[in-house]
Amino acid sequence: MPADPALRDALLHDTAACLGKDYLQQLVTSLARLTGAPLVFISRQHWLPRRESEVLFASHPDHPGRYTLAGTPCADILQQARALQIDSSVNQQFAAEHHTRWQAYAGWPLLAEDGQCLGHLALFDDRSGQLPDGLLAALAPFVQRATAELRRLQHESALSQRASWDALYSSILRQYIQGQPLASLLEAVVRQVEQRLPGWLCSIVRIDAEQRLRPLVGPSLPADYHALIDGLAIGPTVGSCGAAAWHRKRLIAEDLQQHPNWAPYRDITRRFGLGSCWSEPLMDGRGKVHGTFAVYHRTPASPTPEAIIVIEDVSRLLGILFENHATQQALDSRTQWYQAMLQNAADAISIIDMDGRLLDASDSLCKLLGYSQTELRQLRLWDLVAHRSEAELRQQLQNASEQGETFDSLNRTRDGDIIEVEVSVRRLLLDGQPVIWGSARDIRQRKQQERLLREQATVDSLTGLLNRPTLLAALDQQLARALGDGGAMTLLMLDLDHFKQVNDCYGHACGDAALAHFASQLQQQLGPHDHAGRLGGEEFCILLPGCPPERAQAIAQALLQTMRAQPLLFDRQQIALTASIGLTQRLPGDDSRSLLARADMALYQAKHAGRNCTVMLPPP
Ligand code: GH3
Ligand code: MG
Ligand code: MG
Repeated sequence: MPADPALRDALLHDTAACLGKDYLQQLVTSLARLTGAPLVFISRQHWLPRRESEVLFASHPDHPGRYTLAGTPCADILQQARALQIDSSVNQQFAAEHHTRWQAYAGWPLLAEDGQCLGHLALFDDRSGQLPDGLLAALAPFVQRATAELRRLQHESALSQRASWDALYSSILRQYIQGQPLASLLEAVVRQVEQRLPGWLCSIVRIDAEQRLRPLVGPSLPADYHALIDGLAIGPTVGSCGAAAWHRKRLIAEDLQQHPNWAPYRDITRRFGLGSCWSEPLMDGRGKVHGTFAVYHRTPASPTPEAIIVIEDVSRLLGILFENHATQQALDSRTQWYQAMLQNAADAISIIDMDGRLLDASDSLCKLLGYSQTELRQLRLWDLVAHRSEAELRQQLQNASEQGETFDSLNRTRDGDIIEVEVSVRRLLLDGQPVIWGSARDIRQRKQQERLLREQATVDSLTGLLNRPTLLAALDQQLARALGDGGAMTLLMLDLDHFKQVNDCYGHACGDAALAHFASQLQQQLGPHDHAGRLGGEEFCILLPGCPPERAQAIAQALLQTMRAQPLLFDRQQIALTASIGLTQRLPGDDSRSLLARADMALYQAKHAGRNCTVMLPPP
């Protein structure tokens, strides 16, 4: 039977006034009526991962709905991207169950501009040889129009879908930024997705540090299912989520009873009534897998391209939430660490802004300075530093380097005491603003020890006078100065007389007391610029800078007089002590050696002169 041009005209007449969906519906309805075929439909393709077709517009409510293409004539037209007409015995050529009653078939692929198959128009007839010849060619213009309408419909639907999903994603992100807890946001995402896509049972699983599945959200999944997979280690063949996390790649298990990854869990999934599971890994910008987003169905199911887009978008959103949450947690633990460090540090720690305000202070700083936290925060750096002006300190704040520096400082406590501290400062950025991190250590004890050590190094411990090296150094110093200004200088060498007998008669302790007693009498004779030292044993030396010989003589005589007047009192006994004193003044060309040698000589002569006397060399 040749294709009646009247068919084309009639079709044109029926569909001319229609647009969009109406056109597609009218086309199938009219085509069925005009050809007498019981079923005509337009369906769209689902490619992933199995080729399926979904009827969108049908001439009769009894249509296959969503069906697998394999074994149907539709598979041929879509594969070859060309129209096909079979006038009889379709049911013998194709195996699919739902084609057993059909005898004749005509099908047209609906191709997008890029050749991609959007869907097809199919006509089924239960009579043989009733389809008009040349039907394929006759319908070409209608197929073209149907393609354009389908394309527009898909485009519009994709756009409105996109807008609606985008609104969901930005609302979730906004709530996250406003501080909504992650758990409630994950729950909201899942509920929204399930509401929009009936039949989807969504689940979000976290991957813990040991690479185990930790289910978080799955409100529509059977109650005990998540408990069963909790703690399962991920692996290359562990269900959908375990494998997706392992391979960092989407895993689609369309039929859980068939998929090899699910073989060990078939009983479980059957018991829980789960048919398919598509799982997408949740990755951050660096490719770290934080979890998986999975979609289950009660029956075997394969995702449409639109479903894949939703899964990808939702997973991207969840990936961002997980990544931010992990960063936030790391930050929180850092902050806690920082707080713990601040409060437990032995050193006194503070954060100071460029205006000298104390933004933060450790308890140890409060303790060191005697202020409460609240009081400290009302103070400025210059209220606490004793020896620097505000201007100097402001300058120091400005100059503080990122590498840090350490120096000693004097701080004022709340009670007005001055304490010595060693301060380390370092410039940091806090919320984008430069601040100074300061750490102060109480060094009073250290300084005290240093002073003690210095004293021990310069002072004779028994008498408190300078020790030999220090006195000789002072002599060199004074000589150099006297040389410069031509000033006078007198050197006295003193030795206790018959001191051995003191030790012998009264004991060594008494000898020591005698040495200290003599040293204090000697010191009483001296002015602030004079130096007195113990050279060793019971031998002493006095250096009188700027002192003429006559005055030096007078000092020596006064000392001998004092010794006579104030004998040593030891063990309730009075012990008379005397000393011999040799004096000499600086002569031109003298150095310390010649000066000391002459003073020694003078002392020697004093001993020979009978002791308890003074000798000046050269004689006055
Ligand atoms: P001279 O009048 O000739 O100086 O007689 P001297 O006994 O003072 O002189 P000598 O040099 O014979 O004796 C010095 C003594 O001083 C010997 C030593 O036992 C004693 N001596 C030295 N250093 C100390 C000291 O630190 N403590 C005591 N107790 N005795 C000391
Ligand atoms: Mg002596
Ligand atoms: Mg002696």
